[in-house]
Amino acid sequence: MSGKLYLVATPIGNLEDITIRALNVLREVDLIAAEDTRHTLGLLNHFEISKPLISYYKQTEKARSEVLIEKLREGKNIAIVSDAGTPGISDPGEEIVRVAIENNIEIIPIPGACALINALIVSGLSTKEFTFIGFLSAVKKEKKEKLEEIKYETKTVILYEAPHKLKSTLEQIFEILGDRNVVLARELTKIHEEFIRGKVSDILKRIEDIKGEFVILIEGSSVSKKDIELDNLNNLSLEEHYNLYKSQGLDKKEIIKRIAKDRKVSKNEIYQYFL
Ligand code: SAM
Repeated sequence: MSGKLYLVATPIGNLEDITIRALNVLREVDLIAAEDTRHTLGLLNHFEISKPLISYYKQTEKARSEVLIEKLREGKNIAIVSDAGTPGISDPGEEIVRVAIENNIEIIPIPGACALINALIVSGLSTKEFTFIGFLSAVKKEKKEKLEEIKYETKTVILYEAPHKLKSTLEQIFEILGDRNVVLARELTKIHEEFIRGKVSDILKRIEDIKGEFVILIEGSSVSKKDIELDNLNNLSLEEHYNLYKSQGLDKKEIIKRIAKDRKVSKNEIYQYFL
């Protein structure tokens, strides 16, 4: 019988945030696959757990997944852990889960700390709906494109950022998204835990020489992409508006219905115009 694959969340700072279940799983599995074995060894030593470790990080994810699947098929139980927080969230994990599903291996999540969720719940921004985009690309063009893509996102946007890029990312947010309300969740669960809330322009003045780990949360846009599109449509003449829908293969009845809806007028009014 195949073994089980556990994705175990570990603390993001404060070691007391590890769960009893996570400790039990780490004690009971045959092998722990860790993003950085030295880092995980520190955690295991703290909790007096002695277990074989194998490294499993981004660059080796594919090859190592094959090795781990082989061991799972031999009946070994394996735990995946990352350096901090929940595996698979801006951390290795996704690949092994995909291959484990293909191989009909049972996968069990062991919940625990996750920086984005804890930053969100105390941010003061809407928690009803949110978009998590992880780390922005290091490639300038791709980073700009991603920020442009979220410009009209109405949900709270959450991103991770490396400390040395924090300032330049906030400057780009200001440039592309405008002077939005932003929250920086700094050093979550650690001694210097801090939440910095305000307009981007204001925050930029307050973060000279700031250090630590950060989650950036951005208040959703008050204007949606749909509002912009609608505004663009309403700037068209009725003929242009008609031809736009015609080019999408719609029939006359449907075109009139849509124009009336876009312009918030009665279908009859549009119908009369085209008579
Ligand atoms: N898997 C982790 C999780 O569940 O949150 C995320 C790992 S990702 C490689 C590291 C990034 O998460 C950091 O650059 C930072 O943006 C965020 N992060 C992790 N720990 C944090 C903490 N204690 N306080 C603030 N942000 C943190």
